[in-house]
Amino acid sequence: MPGTMQPTVGGCLAMNIHGKNHWRVGSFGEHVIGFTALLGNGEIVSCDKNDSSGLFHSMIGSFGMLGCFLTITLQLKKVNSDSVEVSSLSASNFDDLLMIIDQKKGCDYVVGWLDCVASDAIIGRGVVHTAMYLEAVEYENDNLITRYDLPDKLFLLPYKYIWIILKLFNHHIGYKIINMLRFYSGKLRHKHIFNQSLVQFNFLLDYIPNWKRAFMPGGLVQYQCFVPFDDAIDVFTNIINSCHQYKIIPYLGVVKRHRNDDFLISCNLDGFSMALDFSVTEKNRDRISQLMSELDEIVIDAGGRFYFAKDSNLSPDTTRSFLKKKVIQELINKKQDCDPYNLLQTNLSRRILPELHR
Ligand SMILES: Cc1cc2nc3c(=O)[nH]c(=O)nc-3n(C[C@H](O)[C@H](O)[C@H](O)COP(=O)(O)OP(=O)(O)OC[C@H]3O[C@@H](n4cnc5c(N)ncnc54)[C@H](O)[C@@H]3O)c2cc1C
Repeated sequence: MPGTMQPTVGGCLAMNIHGKNHWRVGSFGEHVIGFTALLGNGEIVSCDKNDSSGLFHSMIGSFGMLGCFLTITLQLKKVNSDSVEVSSLSASNFDDLLMIIDQKKGCDYVVGWLDCVASDAIIGRGVVHTAMYLEAVEYENDNLITRYDLPDKLFLLPYKYIWIILKLFNHHIGYKIINMLRFYSGKLRHKHIFNQSLVQFNFLLDYIPNWKRAFMPGGLVQYQCFVPFDDAIDVFTNIINSCHQYKIIPYLGVVKRHRNDDFLISCNLDGFSMALDFSVTEKNRDRISQLMSELDEIVIDAGGRFYFAKDSNLSPDTTRSFLKKKVIQELINKKQDCDPYNLLQTNLSRRILPELHR
């Protein structure tokens, strides 16, 4: 389950998306029984987990480079309720945050919200939210009809203009305020338990209609890296310190627990990911790009990985260091078989792996 309700099923499989339940249930591709796809060579193929061609294993996650998914058969899971019971736990630094997330990884969902402003001894402080599906009996007592409705107004402002409030905080001091408010409200609600709809728990930004307008005209970029368990504290600390040195504060920082999978192209590993959202302006665009390239080196040195769905900056060299020769060669071989005329290309693929299109 991604952090927005907008993606298509094809897009989810092409990027092999994950959610706040990645440790517990794995990535999207792990729930696929089979699919049909139109390859770049015009052939329509049908694949399942046991297929001997290796296409199942290589098409899932390979960012649409081999073919287009036409139909996807998913193994769904029955839940008794559309709501979850959420627990809020405050963490005083990265050691604490990652320890709580790891201890709670057996919950249906677990996610850490960072205070990206904190430094030194309190760097990495934040709030962990865990969630468990509610049982049917609790569901029956709940008010289903109003569950997804947004209020008409917040104070006097119609809800559809709520992005304007977000925009008022779209500057350096605003990010500091947002980060600190998130941390202190979490601290006040330490061990607080409350019910939330699944939609509300998972799709934070979708709850702000037109949220993208708050970041106009520059837009936003996210930096997400995946780091092995033992290196996560050091790597994440270095990353936040680098942001501070550049004086570029992420307005949102999210940490999740992950596990390995065996798809050809995969960001997943036994460890943690940290996703940092940066608001872009004409003035800071180049510096953010420079910062991200520095962060890439920290991640690569620790044997970390990247998630192409969120990437806007990876260089071919960094991509090669992450994927390694053997995997890239296997992808190139598959590409030559499935799409010999190079019909399937994107700005992403041309930037990160130009050799795929030679
Ligand atoms: C606010 C927000 C929150 C997000 N949160 C998460 C999250 O928590 N976890 C997560 O994993 N991701 C997250 N994402 C990323 C998102 O889930 C992925 O980018 C997803 O791939 C988008 O799906 P889409 O249908 O919009 O695909 P597009 O963006 O249109 O395409 C994505 C890629 O998939 C390929 N593709 C699309 N359809 C097909 C098809 N039918 N066959 C073959 N290839 C295809 C495209 O060529 C492209 O390379 C988030 C994105 C946003 C904007």
